[in-house]
Amino acid sequence: KSGFVAIVGRPNVGKSTLLNRIVGQKIAIMSDKAQTTRNKIQGVYTTPDTQIVFIDTPGIHKPKHRLGDFMVETAYSALREVDVILFMISADQKRGKGDDFIIERLKKSDVPVFLIVNKIDKVHPDALLATIQDYTSQMEFAEVVPISATEGNNFETLMDVLVEQM
Ligand code: GDP
Ligand code: MG
Repeated sequence: KSGFVAIVGRPNVGKSTLLNRIVGQKIAIMSDKAQTTRNKIQGVYTTPDTQIVFIDTPGIHKPKHRLGDFMVETAYSALREVDVILFMISADQKRGKGDDFIIERLKKSDVPVFLIVNKIDKVHPDALLATIQDYTSQMEFAEVVPISATEGNNFETLMDVLVEQM
């Protein structure tokens, strides 16, 4: 099985951290600063019978100026060429305008979208459930997978559902 996967989400939700765990090497730049990842950086997940190419997008946000506009369009153009889109959010942050902007674009997607709720190590299960209910009330997701990119929780589950989708 083989395919392409894009990871989208607000800056600092943990996209690069997950990508680094998936490919097992530091190919994306990790930082606390917003929007360190300015280019699409690809990593390949390989097992004996699977090859999945991952695309890390720049922090997609509501554009405030022309450069931002261009960067957002570059990021979204990648989304038309993949088999699955991972929309990553952080369990410890409330849904904001940046998320709503992304959601409006993802609603128009022909590609299945998975909601990846990251940083579950930072929140109480009740708060996690409330966050999932809030997001799933906004749009329909093909899968919802709560994870911790740093701790590794549910990592195998995520890879299993991804491979199933290919
Ligand atoms: P990106 O901007 O979406 O690529 O986010 P990064 O991968 O650069 O992560 C932003 C910050 O969140 C870094 O300090 C990470 O160490 C931290 N982080 C990422 N995933 C997790 C997680 O699952 N749990 C916790 N506690 N921190 C995380
Ligand atoms: Mg990043």
